Amino acid sequence: MPTVDRQSAVSTFSSLANETRLTILDVLADAPVGLSFSQLYEAVPIDDTGNFNYHLTQLTGSFVQKHDGVYKITPTGTAILGALVAGTFDADLSIEPIPTNWECLQCGGDFTVRCVDTRAHLRCDTCESGSTISVPPSAVDSTSKENLPTTLIQWYRSRIQQLRAGFCHRCSSQTDRRLVEGVDPEADAPTPSVVRFDCRRCGASATVSGATLVTFHPVVEGFFREYGLETHNQHPTQVWRALDSSEVRTTSENPLEVEVQFSMDEETVSAVITAAGCVEDVRRVDTS
Ligand SMILES: [Zn+2]
Ligand SMILES: [Zn+2]
Repeated sequence: MPTVDRQSAVSTFSSLANETRLTILDVLADAPVGLSFSQLYEAVPIDDTGNFNYHLTQLTGSFVQKHDGVYKITPTGTAILGALVAGTFDADLSIEPIPTNWECLQCGGDFTVRCVDTRAHLRCDTCESGSTISVPPSAVDSTSKENLPTTLIQWYRSRIQQLRAGFCHRCSSQTDRRLVEGVDPEADAPTPSVVRFDCRRCGASATVSGATLVTFHPVVEGFFREYGLETHNQHPTQVWRALDSSEVRTTSENPLEVEVQFSMDEETVSAVITAAGCVEDVRRVDTS
């Protein structure tokens, strides 16, 4: 289980609650080789050396390191500053819903993009199938309304790639993953297979369907691209919709294993998702 020392987390944040200290971090973030005390003092608008020294001392340790008279920002300082710049803590993404021309694979309904707080919902209006992702406002800052669905897909793809590589979507720590659900072909309303990712450090979890995970595998993306289907500007369901066929089936119950197959013209690309949630045995087969 992740453990957070709440007392130290509180004192960490309270030691940042000051304009001068944030400015010091900001200045150091732009100085990769670090700055001497006088260079730093010069760059921060404050007139009292004693006062300045006090604030700098409060940052030294977690956020700033001093070595041979040179001050540098620490990785923690960079991460905190990055989160503040990204607007993770105080911004709100909420906008009017944006219609798209994506058609629901399940029911033929229309997909709409809805952003509420810092989450984007890319879902069917009728049956609500689709995806929900966390988005820092900085990721979509300068994007026009008509380009927003595409930008969100690019962000979504980058998150899936990060999870695929084994890192937490929230704090970049390592994750544990496993295939938690296969598919039941007998079910009235078939549900997708589910791979679950749990962060070892911050406790965040994410679930991704097996078909989505396979879709963003480089070999599979290459297959799609050869048939003119792009994965970086439309929801994965739109790629599947354009295929001759797509199929996900449970090939083993114990250990749980799922196979994903995408076919176009006379070629099939397939992959196995193991109980450990890994995409393996990716192959392209000529079926002519
Ligand atoms: Zn639908
Ligand atoms: Zn995490």
